[in-house]
Amino acid sequence: MTRAPEDQPLTSDELAERKMRFLFSLRSRGVTDARVLTAMEKVDRGLFVRGTFADRAYEDMPLPIACGQTISQPSVVGLMTQALQVNPRDTVLEVGTGSGYQAAILAQLARRVYTVDRYRRLVREASGLFLQLDLANITAIAADGSFGLPDQAPFDRIIVTAAAEDPPGPLLAQLKPGGIMVVPVGQSDTVQSLIKVVRTERGFDYEELRPVRFVPLVEGLGAE
Ligand code: SAH
Repeated sequence: MTRAPEDQPLTSDELAERKMRFLFSLRSRGVTDARVLTAMEKVDRGLFVRGTFADRAYEDMPLPIACGQTISQPSVVGLMTQALQVNPRDTVLEVGTGSGYQAAILAQLARRVYTVDRYRRLVREASGLFLQLDLANITAIAADGSFGLPDQAPFDRIIVTAAAEDPPGPLLAQLKPGGIMVVPVGQSDTVQSLIKVVRTERGFDYEELRPVRFVPLVEGLGAE
């Protein structure tokens, strides 16, 4: 639905219908976990998309955000969150804060969420939203996430929302035994695969979930 800014605010019926359609499109793309759907119902994606594209926030598409990055497609956020199998007592690391939308959803499901981005500006803007939404269990940090967060490790769950050529070694090392990591793997311009890694007592099990397309994991801090 596209509305010009001068339009009247949506009525409560229109808001309810928009939410219903949003949840329906998630379900039809395979997001069926009830806890994930409830979390996604609670977090208003419209708050995480600013400017020109704000009125498309409820459509199932990735959208541009600041620093030349993107907020992921809602169904991909749902499928990744579902694959992560987050428990209420878990400590989760997200690499790639971006808009903060994925972290806000994880915060509904986990005890504690650490999220890192290489752009200070994105971390600052997302932190403002977490404060506004009273999401006190999220800590956002500007850092190169390929190295994880050694001071807060180990983690029960790790989610990487930028594509790496291989699952980064430091992140594997910071996963608890029994822990799960979800990471898009592949060259930036070609098709990437979403991989689920489970740390077992003996090593790591890898499962390929589906093709995806993410911005690349880039070394070092960004300019902004
Ligand atoms: N999860 C985000 C979308 C992430 S887009 C959301 O819900 O909106 C991918 C993000 O990964 C970008 O913001 C980019 O700056 C960040 N990124 C890329 N390489 C990184 C690195 N090495 N360390 C931390 N963040 C990185």
